[in-house]
Amino acid sequence: MEILVIGAGVGGLAVARSLLAAGHRVRVFERAAARRTGGAGLTIFSNGNAVLNDLGVSLDGIGGRIDRIDALTSDGRLRTTMNLAHTADRFGFENASVSRRELLERLADGLPDDLVRYGMGCRSVTQDHDRVTATFDDGTTATGDLLIGADGHHSVVRRQLWGEDAVRPASFGTWQSLSRIDIDLTHTHLHLMITGREGACGLIPAGNGLLQWWFDVRWSPADPRPAAPLAELRRRFGHWASPVPEVLAAADEDDLGFFGHHWNKVRRVWGEGRVTLLGDAAHTMPPTLGQGANQTLEDVWALGRELAKGGDPAARLRAYEKTRYPQVSLVSRLARRSPANWRIPPLIGRLFPETSQTTMLTRYSNRLTAAAAG
Ligand SMILES: Cc1cc2nc3c(=O)[nH]c(=O)nc-3n(C[C@H](O)[C@H](O)[C@H](O)COP(=O)(O)OP(=O)(O)OC[C@H]3O[C@@H](n4cnc5c(N)ncnc54)[C@H](O)[C@@H]3O)c2cc1C
Repeated sequence: MEILVIGAGVGGLAVARSLLAAGHRVRVFERAAARRTGGAGLTIFSNGNAVLNDLGVSLDGIGGRIDRIDALTSDGRLRTTMNLAHTADRFGFENASVSRRELLERLADGLPDDLVRYGMGCRSVTQDHDRVTATFDDGTTATGDLLIGADGHHSVVRRQLWGEDAVRPASFGTWQSLSRIDIDLTHTHLHLMITGREGACGLIPAGNGLLQWWFDVRWSPADPRPAAPLAELRRRFGHWASPVPEVLAAADEDDLGFFGHHWNKVRRVWGEGRVTLLGDAAHTMPPTLGQGANQTLEDVWALGRELAKGGDPAARLRAYEKTRYPQVSLVSRLARRSPANWRIPPLIGRLFPETSQTTMLTRYSNRLTAAAAG
Protein backbone atom coordinates (compact mmCIF):
# COMPACT_ATOMS: atom_id res chain seq x y z
CA MET A 1 0.00 0.00 0.00
CA GLU A 2 0.98 3.63 -0.36
CA ILE A 3 1.02 5.15 3.12
CA LEU A 4 1.30 8.80 4.13
CA VAL A 5 2.73 9.59 7.57
CA ILE A 6 2.27 13.06 9.04
CA GLY A 7 5.08 13.96 11.49
CA ALA A 8 8.69 12.73 11.70
CA GLY A 9 9.08 12.50 15.49
CA VAL A 10 9.64 9.28 17.43
CA GLY A 11 6.37 7.74 16.19
CA GLY A 12 6.57 8.92 12.55
CA LEU A 13 10.12 7.64 12.01
CA ALA A 14 9.45 4.38 13.85
CA VAL A 15 6.26 3.63 11.94
CA ALA A 16 7.97 4.48 8.65
CA ARG A 17 10.67 1.89 9.45
CA SER A 18 8.07 -0.72 10.28
CA LEU A 19 5.96 -0.07 7.16
CA LEU A 20 8.93 0.03 4.80
CA ALA A 21 10.17 -3.27 6.20
CA ALA A 22 6.72 -4.74 5.50
CA GLY A 23 7.04 -3.69 1.84
CA HIS A 24 4.75 -0.63 1.79
CA ARG A 25 5.53 2.58 -0.06
CA VAL A 26 5.87 5.31 2.56
CA ARG A 27 6.14 9.10 2.47
CA VAL A 28 6.65 11.14 5.66
CA PHE A 29 5.74 14.83 5.88
CA GLU A 30 7.24 16.95 8.66
CA ARG A 31 6.34 20.55 9.47
CA ALA A 32 9.75 21.47 10.91
CA ALA A 33 12.54 22.50 8.57
CA ALA A 34 14.88 19.74 9.80
CA ARG A 35 15.10 16.81 12.22
CA ARG A 36 14.69 17.92 15.84
CA THR A 37 17.92 18.09 17.82
CA GLY A 38 16.67 19.43 21.19
CA GLY A 39 14.31 18.11 23.85
CA ALA A 40 16.84 16.68 26.35
CA GLY A 41 16.43 13.01 27.28
CA LEU A 42 13.90 10.20 27.29
CA THR A 43 13.77 7.03 29.35
CA ILE A 44 13.23 4.04 27.11
CA PHE A 45 11.87 1.19 29.20
CA SER A 46 12.02 -2.52 28.33
CA ASN A 47 8.74 -2.30 26.39
CA GLY A 48 9.96 0.50 24.08
CA ASN A 49 13.35 -1.13 23.73
CA ALA A 50 11.68 -4.40 22.67
CA VAL A 51 9.95 -2.57 19.80
CA LEU A 52 13.15 -0.77 18.83
CA ASN A 53 14.87 -4.13 18.65
CA ASP A 54 12.07 -5.38 16.39
CA LEU A 55 12.67 -2.38 14.13
CA GLY A 56 16.40 -3.09 13.94
CA VAL A 57 17.26 -0.08 16.12
CA SER A 58 19.90 -0.59 18.81
CA LEU A 59 20.61 1.74 21.72
CA ASP A 60 24.13 0.34 22.07
CA GLY A 61 26.68 3.06 22.64
CA ILE A 62 24.19 5.81 23.42
CA GLY A 63 22.63 6.91 26.70
CA GLY A 64 22.96 5.21 30.06
CA ARG A 65 21.49 1.96 31.39
CA ILE A 66 19.10 2.34 34.34
CA ASP A 67 19.08 -0.56 36.82
CA ARG A 68 17.16 0.94 39.72
CA ILE A 69 14.79 3.77 40.59
CA ASP A 70 14.88 5.04 44.16
CA ALA A 71 11.99 7.26 45.21
CA LEU A 72 13.06 9.64 47.99
CA THR A 73 11.50 12.26 50.20
CA SER A 74 12.80 15.80 49.81
CA ASP A 75 14.83 15.34 53.03
CA GLY A 76 16.52 12.25 51.58
CA ARG A 77 14.57 9.32 53.12
CA LEU A 78 13.85 6.31 50.91
CA ARG A 79 10.17 5.97 50.00
CA THR A 80 10.53 2.89 47.82
CA THR A 81 12.97 1.26 45.46
CA MET A 82 12.31 -0.38 42.09
CA ASN A 83 14.65 -2.92 40.61
CA LEU A 84 14.61 -2.27 36.86
CA ALA A 85 17.42 -4.74 36.24
CA HIS A 86 14.87 -7.40 37.19
CA THR A 87 12.31 -6.15 34.63
CA ALA A 88 15.11 -6.04 32.04
CA ASP A 89 15.81 -9.73 32.81
CA ARG A 90 12.12 -10.58 32.70
CA PHE A 91 11.52 -8.91 29.33
CA GLY A 92 14.98 -9.34 27.83
CA PHE A 93 15.54 -5.64 27.14
CA GLU A 94 17.38 -3.03 29.17
CA ASN A 95 15.97 0.27 30.41
CA ALA A 96 17.98 3.30 29.33
CA SER A 97 18.05 7.06 29.41
CA VAL A 98 18.94 8.45 25.96
CA SER A 99 18.98 11.88 24.38
CA ARG A 100 16.06 12.54 22.04
CA ARG A 101 18.49 13.69 19.37
CA GLU A 102 20.36 10.38 19.41
CA LEU A 103 17.16 8.34 19.49
CA LEU A 104 15.86 10.19 16.41
CA GLU A 105 19.22 9.68 14.68
CA ARG A 106 19.07 5.93 15.34
CA LEU A 107 15.47 5.76 14.12
CA ALA A 108 16.41 7.59 10.90
CA ASP A 109 19.56 5.57 10.34
CA GLY A 110 19.35 3.55 7.11
CA LEU A 111 16.07 5.11 5.94
CA PRO A 112 16.01 6.46 2.34
CA ASP A 113 17.34 10.05 2.20
CA ASP A 114 14.22 11.37 0.49
CA LEU A 115 11.73 9.59 2.80
CA VAL A 116 10.99 12.61 4.99
CA ARG A 117 9.93 15.86 3.35
CA TYR A 118 10.68 18.69 5.77
CA GLY A 119 8.90 22.06 5.82
CA MET A 120 5.59 20.33 4.98
CA GLY A 121 3.00 21.23 7.63
CA CYS A 122 -0.21 19.29 7.09
CA ARG A 123 -3.24 21.59 7.03
CA SER A 124 -6.10 19.18 6.36
CA VAL A 125 -7.00 15.64 5.37
CA THR A 126 -9.83 14.43 3.10
CA GLN A 127 -10.78 10.92 2.01
CA ASP A 128 -13.21 8.96 -0.12
CA HIS A 129 -13.82 5.24 -0.15
CA ASP A 130 -10.52 4.40 -1.86
CA ARG A 131 -7.96 7.14 -1.22
CA VAL A 132 -6.89 9.74 1.32
CA THR A 133 -5.38 13.14 0.55
CA ALA A 134 -3.32 15.45 2.76
CA THR A 135 -3.13 19.15 1.95
CA PHE A 136 -0.09 21.10 3.15
CA ASP A 137 0.48 24.69 4.20
CA ASP A 138 2.04 25.51 0.81
CA GLY A 139 -1.14 24.33 -0.96
CA THR A 140 0.37 21.13 -2.38
CA THR A 141 -1.27 17.75 -1.80
CA ALA A 142 -0.29 14.08 -1.46
CA THR A 143 -2.59 11.11 -1.96
CA GLY A 144 -2.26 7.53 -0.67
CA ASP A 145 -4.17 4.46 0.48
CA LEU A 146 -3.77 5.17 4.22
CA LEU A 147 -2.76 8.14 6.35
CA ILE A 148 -1.22 7.99 9.82
CA GLY A 149 -1.35 11.12 11.95
CA ALA A 150 1.86 10.98 14.02
CA ASP A 151 1.91 14.74 14.41
CA GLY A 152 2.23 14.96 18.19
CA HIS A 153 0.25 16.54 20.98
CA HIS A 154 -1.12 19.46 18.95
CA SER A 155 -2.04 17.11 16.06
CA VAL A 156 -3.82 18.68 13.10
CA VAL A 157 -5.01 15.23 12.01
CA ARG A 158 -6.59 14.59 15.43
CA ARG A 159 -8.20 18.02 15.47
CA GLN A 160 -9.87 17.19 12.21
CA LEU A 161 -11.12 13.83 13.48
CA TRP A 162 -12.01 14.74 17.07
CA GLY A 163 -12.64 18.49 16.97
CA GLU A 164 -10.89 21.33 18.77
CA ASP A 165 -11.10 20.63 22.50
CA ALA A 166 -9.84 17.09 22.90
CA VAL A 167 -6.53 18.02 24.56
CA ARG A 168 -6.38 20.09 27.73
CA PRO A 169 -3.51 21.51 29.74
CA ALA A 170 -2.50 19.39 32.73
CA SER A 171 -1.89 21.38 35.91
CA PHE A 172 1.90 21.06 35.84
CA GLY A 173 4.95 21.44 33.67
CA THR A 174 8.60 20.42 33.64
CA TRP A 175 11.86 22.34 33.62
CA GLN A 176 14.41 19.96 32.24
CA SER A 177 17.93 19.65 30.95
CA LEU A 178 20.46 17.10 29.77
CA SER A 179 23.83 18.41 30.81
CA ARG A 180 27.27 17.61 32.08
CA ILE A 181 26.91 17.57 35.88
CA ASP A 182 29.86 15.98 37.59
CA ILE A 183 28.40 14.40 40.74
CA ASP A 184 28.77 10.75 41.86
CA LEU A 185 25.23 9.87 40.73
CA THR A 186 26.03 10.75 37.10
CA HIS A 187 28.42 7.81 36.93
CA THR A 188 25.93 5.21 38.25
CA HIS A 189 22.88 3.34 36.87
CA LEU A 190 20.55 4.74 39.55
CA HIS A 191 17.58 6.98 38.73
CA LEU A 192 16.46 9.18 41.65
CA MET A 193 12.88 10.39 41.85
CA ILE A 194 12.39 12.91 44.66
CA THR A 195 9.06 14.34 45.75
CA GLY A 196 8.07 16.94 48.29
CA ARG A 197 5.69 19.81 48.96
CA GLU A 198 7.43 22.07 46.43
CA GLY A 199 7.11 19.62 43.50
CA ALA A 200 9.10 16.72 42.07
CA CYS A 201 12.62 16.21 40.79
CA GLY A 202 14.15 13.46 38.66
CA LEU A 203 17.88 12.81 38.32
CA ILE A 204 18.80 10.25 35.68
CA PRO A 205 22.34 9.32 34.59
CA ALA A 206 22.35 9.40 30.78
CA GLY A 207 25.84 8.08 29.96
CA ASN A 208 29.02 9.88 28.86
CA GLY A 209 29.06 12.13 31.92
CA LEU A 210 25.58 13.50 31.22
CA LEU A 211 22.75 13.83 33.71
CA GLN A 212 19.13 14.16 32.68
CA TRP A 213 17.52 16.30 35.38
CA TRP A 214 14.08 17.76 35.73
CA PHE A 215 11.81 19.61 38.12
CA ASP A 216 8.02 19.48 37.96
CA VAL A 217 6.13 22.55 39.12
CA ARG A 218 2.52 23.69 39.07
CA TRP A 219 1.69 25.42 35.77
CA SER A 220 -1.14 26.86 33.75
CA PRO A 221 -0.86 28.20 30.18
CA ALA A 222 -1.59 31.73 31.47
CA ASP A 223 1.50 31.73 33.73
CA PRO A 224 4.24 34.13 32.60
CA ARG A 225 7.68 32.55 32.08
CA PRO A 226 9.87 33.42 35.11
CA ALA A 227 12.51 36.03 34.28
CA ALA A 228 15.23 33.89 35.91
CA PRO A 229 14.06 30.24 35.94
CA LEU A 230 17.22 28.76 37.44
CA ALA A 231 17.17 31.24 40.34
CA GLU A 232 13.50 30.31 40.86
CA LEU A 233 14.35 26.57 40.91
CA ARG A 234 17.19 27.22 43.38
CA ARG A 235 14.86 29.21 45.60
CA ARG A 236 12.21 26.52 45.54
CA PHE A 237 14.27 23.30 45.65
CA GLY A 238 17.73 24.41 46.83
CA HIS A 239 17.08 23.31 50.46
CA TRP A 240 16.26 19.68 49.45
CA ALA A 241 18.66 16.91 50.48
CA SER A 242 21.82 16.18 48.50
CA PRO A 243 22.34 15.85 45.56
CA VAL A 244 19.63 18.36 44.55
CA PRO A 245 21.55 21.49 45.70
CA GLU A 246 24.72 20.23 43.94
CA VAL A 247 22.81 19.76 40.67
CA LEU A 248 21.25 23.21 40.91
CA ALA A 249 24.63 24.76 41.75
CA ALA A 250 26.28 23.19 38.68
CA ALA A 251 23.35 23.89 36.33
CA ASP A 252 23.45 26.36 33.47
CA GLU A 253 20.33 28.35 32.60
CA ASP A 254 21.07 28.13 28.86
CA ASP A 255 20.50 24.35 28.99
CA LEU A 256 17.06 24.63 30.62
CA GLY A 257 13.90 23.97 28.63
CA PHE A 258 10.29 24.24 29.81
CA PHE A 259 7.39 21.97 28.77
CA GLY A 260 3.83 22.67 29.93
CA HIS A 261 1.98 19.34 29.93
CA HIS A 262 -1.29 18.36 28.27
CA TRP A 263 -3.60 15.38 28.49
CA ASN A 264 -6.44 13.86 26.51
CA LYS A 265 -8.89 11.13 27.44
CA VAL A 266 -7.95 8.21 25.24
CA ARG A 267 -10.82 7.25 22.95
CA ARG A 268 -11.82 3.75 21.95
CA VAL A 269 -11.87 4.74 18.27
CA TRP A 270 -9.07 7.06 17.11
CA GLY A 271 -9.57 7.36 13.37
CA GLU A 272 -12.03 7.10 10.57
CA GLY A 273 -11.93 5.19 7.29
CA ARG A 274 -8.38 5.21 5.96
CA VAL A 275 -7.00 7.56 8.61
CA THR A 276 -5.66 6.71 12.06
CA LEU A 277 -3.53 8.29 14.77
CA LEU A 278 -0.35 7.16 16.47
CA GLY A 279 1.63 8.37 19.48
CA ASP A 280 0.89 11.63 21.25
CA ALA A 281 -1.66 12.52 18.55
CA ALA A 282 -3.87 9.75 20.00
CA HIS A 283 -2.71 9.82 23.62
CA THR A 284 -1.10 13.01 24.84
CA MET A 285 -0.03 12.59 28.46
CA PRO A 286 2.39 14.17 30.92
CA PRO A 287 5.70 12.27 31.30
CA THR A 288 4.88 11.15 34.86
CA LEU A 289 5.57 7.48 34.05
CA GLY A 290 8.07 8.13 31.25
CA GLN A 291 5.82 6.13 28.94
CA GLY A 292 4.76 8.58 26.17
CA ALA A 293 7.42 7.51 23.67
CA ASN A 294 7.35 3.91 24.89
CA GLN A 295 3.61 3.70 24.29
CA THR A 296 4.13 5.35 20.90
CA LEU A 297 6.53 2.53 20.03
CA GLU A 298 3.94 0.01 21.23
CA ASP A 299 1.47 1.64 18.79
CA VAL A 300 3.97 1.08 15.98
CA TRP A 301 4.31 -2.59 16.91
CA ALA A 302 0.55 -3.14 17.15
CA LEU A 303 -0.18 -1.30 13.88
CA GLY A 304 2.45 -3.35 12.03
CA ARG A 305 0.92 -6.59 13.30
CA GLU A 306 -2.61 -5.57 12.30
CA LEU A 307 -1.68 -4.41 8.79
CA ALA A 308 0.25 -7.64 8.24
CA LYS A 309 -3.06 -9.51 8.51
CA GLY A 310 -4.19 -7.98 5.19
CA GLY A 311 -7.82 -7.49 4.12
CA ASP A 312 -9.84 -4.29 4.40
CA PRO A 313 -7.33 -1.60 5.49
CA ALA A 314 -9.92 0.52 7.31
CA ALA A 315 -10.98 -2.52 9.34
CA ARG A 316 -7.33 -3.21 10.19
CA LEU A 317 -6.89 0.37 11.45
CA ARG A 318 -9.94 0.04 13.71
CA ALA A 319 -8.61 -3.29 15.01
CA TYR A 320 -5.25 -1.62 15.80
CA GLU A 321 -7.02 1.13 17.79
CA LYS A 322 -9.06 -1.48 19.66
CA THR A 323 -5.95 -3.47 20.62
CA ARG A 324 -4.18 -0.39 21.93
CA TYR A 325 -7.08 1.05 23.92
CA PRO A 326 -6.91 -0.98 27.18
CA GLN A 327 -3.18 -0.49 27.75
CA VAL A 328 -2.75 3.06 26.64
CA SER A 329 -5.86 4.33 28.41
CA LEU A 330 -4.55 2.81 31.67
CA VAL A 331 -1.13 4.40 31.25
CA SER A 332 -2.69 7.72 30.34
CA ARG A 333 -4.91 7.78 33.44
CA LEU A 334 -1.96 6.94 35.69
CA ALA A 335 0.23 9.58 34.06
CA ARG A 336 -2.31 12.37 34.37
CA ARG A 337 -1.30 13.41 37.88
CA SER A 338 1.97 15.09 38.68
CA PRO A 339 4.59 12.80 40.23
CA ALA A 340 4.67 15.34 43.06
CA ASN A 341 1.39 13.70 44.21
CA TRP A 342 2.94 10.24 44.35
CA ARG A 343 4.26 10.51 47.85
CA ILE A 344 4.52 6.92 49.04
CA PRO A 345 5.16 7.04 52.83
CA PRO A 346 8.70 5.84 53.65
CA LEU A 347 7.06 3.27 55.98
CA ILE A 348 5.83 1.34 52.90
CA GLY A 349 9.43 1.01 51.73
CA ARG A 350 10.37 -0.42 55.14
CA LEU A 351 7.34 -2.74 55.45
CA PHE A 352 7.73 -4.37 52.03
CA PRO A 353 11.08 -5.98 51.25
CA GLU A 354 12.71 -5.08 47.93
CA THR A 355 11.66 -8.44 46.46
CA SER A 356 7.93 -7.63 46.95
CA GLN A 357 8.40 -4.17 45.47
CA THR A 358 10.19 -5.72 42.48
CA THR A 359 7.35 -8.23 41.99
CA MET A 360 4.83 -5.37 42.07
CA LEU A 361 6.89 -3.42 39.53
CA THR A 362 7.14 -6.41 37.19
CA ARG A 363 3.36 -6.96 37.38
CA TYR A 364 2.76 -3.29 36.74
CA SER A 365 5.23 -3.30 33.80
CA ASN A 366 3.44 -6.31 32.37
CA ARG A 367 0.21 -4.31 32.23
CA LEU A 368 1.88 -1.51 30.28
CA THR A 369 3.23 -3.67 27.51
CA ALA A 370 2.07 -6.07 24.86
CA ALA A 371 5.24 -5.74 22.81
CA ALA A 372 7.79 -6.82 25.42
CA ALA A 373 5.59 -9.55 26.85
CA GLY A 374 4.40 -10.78 23.44
C1 LIG B 1 9.62 16.96 29.32
C2 LIG B 1 9.23 15.67 28.66
C3 LIG B 1 9.83 14.48 29.07
C4 LIG B 1 9.47 13.26 28.49
N1 LIG B 1 10.06 12.12 28.92
C5 LIG B 1 9.69 10.92 28.39
C6 LIG B 1 10.34 9.72 28.81
O1 LIG B 1 11.22 9.71 29.66
N2 LIG B 1 9.93 8.54 28.24
C7 LIG B 1 8.93 8.50 27.30
O2 LIG B 1 8.59 7.41 26.83
N3 LIG B 1 8.32 9.64 26.87
C8 LIG B 1 8.67 10.84 27.39
N4 LIG B 1 8.07 12.00 26.96
C9 LIG B 1 6.99 11.90 25.97
C10 LIG B 1 7.52 11.75 24.55
O3 LIG B 1 8.36 12.85 24.26
C11 LIG B 1 6.37 11.71 23.55
O4 LIG B 1 5.39 10.80 24.00
C12 LIG B 1 6.86 11.26 22.18
O5 LIG B 1 7.79 12.19 21.66
C13 LIG B 1 5.67 11.12 21.23
O6 LIG B 1 6.13 10.87 19.92
P1 LIG B 1 5.26 11.38 18.70
O7 LIG B 1 5.97 10.93 17.48
O8 LIG B 1 3.83 11.01 18.89
O9 LIG B 1 5.29 12.95 18.80
P2 LIG B 1 6.54 13.92 18.61
O10 LIG B 1 7.79 13.23 18.99
O11 LIG B 1 6.16 15.19 19.29
O12 LIG B 1 6.58 14.16 17.02
C14 LIG B 1 5.55 14.81 16.33
C15 LIG B 1 6.13 15.39 15.05
O13 LIG B 1 5.09 15.90 14.23
C16 LIG B 1 5.47 17.16 13.69
N5 LIG B 1 4.24 17.90 13.35
C17 LIG B 1 3.40 18.53 14.20
N6 LIG B 1 2.36 19.04 13.52
C18 LIG B 1 2.57 18.76 12.21
C19 LIG B 1 1.83 19.02 11.02
N7 LIG B 1 0.67 19.71 11.04
N8 LIG B 1 2.32 18.56 9.84
C20 LIG B 1 3.51 17.86 9.77
N9 LIG B 1 4.23 17.59 10.90
C21 LIG B 1 3.76 18.02 12.09
C22 LIG B 1 6.28 17.80 14.81
O14 LIG B 1 7.13 18.81 14.32
C23 LIG B 1 7.07 16.57 15.33
O15 LIG B 1 8.28 16.38 14.63
C24 LIG B 1 8.46 13.24 27.49
C25 LIG B 1 7.86 14.42 27.07
C26 LIG B 1 8.24 15.62 27.64
C27 LIG B 1 7.59 16.89 27.17
